[in-house]
Amino acid sequence: MVSRRALRGTEPLGYVKPVGPVFCPLCGRPLEEGASVDEHHLVPRSHGGKHKQLVHRICHRKIHATFSERELAQSFCTWEALRSHPEIAAFLRWVANKPPAFYDNSRRPARRR
Ligand SMILES: [Zn+2]
Ligand SMILES: [Zn+2]
Repeated sequence: MVSRRALRGTEPLGYVKPVGPVFCPLCGRPLEEGASVDEHHLVPRSHGGKHKQLVHRICHRKIHATFSERELAQSFCTWEALRSHPEIAAFLRWVANKPPAFYDNSRRPARRR
């Protein structure tokens, strides 16, 4: 028999466990446990943004490598706008076939069979 004592009041206040799989709003791939994940403010905090969402670190890096905070605040503060930018669109096609935990500085041999 498994003890059920963990069910009562053991989780700290404010802790919200994600229900079900969570998907990256940029690339649409799942945000797996163990994957490198960052929080992105659609409107940068320096521009008053409060809303943040989880994205892959590799996706996050791409966003900030492509846009300045000012561009993000003024023109690219929705996922639709980000995804429609040609450079991001090319990145999304490239990253679509990568495993969710893929990150560009992991140096795994390309072929391992
Ligand atoms: Zn992603
Ligand atoms: Zn960000």
